[in-house]
Amino acid sequence: MSEPTFDIPKIQKAAVVAKAGSTVQVRNDQPVKSPADLAPGECLVKLHFTGVCHTDLHAALGDWPVKPMIPLIGGHEGVGTIVAIGKNTSHSPVKLGQRVGIKWVADSCLNCEQCRKGHEQNCYNVKLSGYTVDGTFSQYVVSYVNSVTPIPDNLESAAAASILCAGVTVYRALKYSETSPGEWIVLPGAGGGLGHMAIQYAKYMGRRVIAIDGGEEKRKLCEELGADAWIDYTVSQDIVADVKKITDGRGAHAAVVTTASSSGYVQAVDYLRENGHLMAVGLPGDAKLDASIFFTVFKGITIHGSYVGNRQDAVEAIDIAASGAVKCHYQLKKLSDIEQVYNDITNGKVAGRIVLEVV
Ligand SMILES: [Zn+2]
Ligand SMILES: [Zn+2]
Repeated sequence: MSEPTFDIPKIQKAAVVAKAGSTVQVRNDQPVKSPADLAPGECLVKLHFTGVCHTDLHAALGDWPVKPMIPLIGGHEGVGTIVAIGKNTSHSPVKLGQRVGIKWVADSCLNCEQCRKGHEQNCYNVKLSGYTVDGTFSQYVVSYVNSVTPIPDNLESAAAASILCAGVTVYRALKYSETSPGEWIVLPGAGGGLGHMAIQYAKYMGRRVIAIDGGEEKRKLCEELGADAWIDYTVSQDIVADVKKITDGRGAHAAVVTTASSSGYVQAVDYLRENGHLMAVGLPGDAKLDASIFFTVFKGITIHGSYVGNRQDAVEAIDIAASGAVKCHYQLKKLSDIEQVYNDITNGKVAGRIVLEVV
């Protein structure tokens, strides 16, 4: 069988941030790397869909302690087809024409201490999609055969997009929460972009879920997704007391805190039971964790920073989604809508995730 061939243009459409803090602009004059110029191990992916993540706004603003490249093409929840592979690439785990995902960790060296221990997201030579290398807000992007995530045939591209960041992130946090089936997990912000996926992964893993969020709409969503208990923070007088009441006075076994405010973290130390795990996932730029050291020690609480996931976490998160057990709720827009999407996210007008069709 001959290999598929693809027509690859020399220039493309991409959403570019010219300098930190400037607006994102869709331009039609961005170069596409020629297949002949791809290094061994590199591949060219023609994108179909890409999710938009809050991280993309931090990248555009440059307000994190680690600074992004400039000019910047953001995006790290991309799904597309491999249209070229660098010559002299040996033992590629993916092939031409295959559908793959591009996640936040665009590539890792696989040889440093962190990579050898399986912590590819902490690789000392890591390439971050839409941050230190061009991301997925473009028609074509250079990626890496050893790091792309294969997308199973029974998972649609648009549905897979946000699994690659939001899904992987909450899945890994649950996986490492050292909880067992039947145990209680608290999810502050359960009705949000990460939270609503966390409910579904937690239920898939047999955990009992206490969803915390505000308002009737969020309550309905969380209960539809299988939350076992609901706390409305706009009504609750005492969230810690409410969690304890639901858990027979003992507290929850773990909390996956995706919120950007520090209060969510402080409360968790109080409502977790002895030897509970606080999985810290949200990435506020400058908030501090102000938990009681006495009770952290006295109760044997583990505070565990959980940062996206490695290749295996991504494969597992995608496979669970492909089984139909986890669905991302998203609104579909077009790449050309991206400036408006950034404004809407900044102004808090977006419920759930946004996925852009790359046309
Ligand atoms: Zn993200
Ligand atoms: Zn490494």
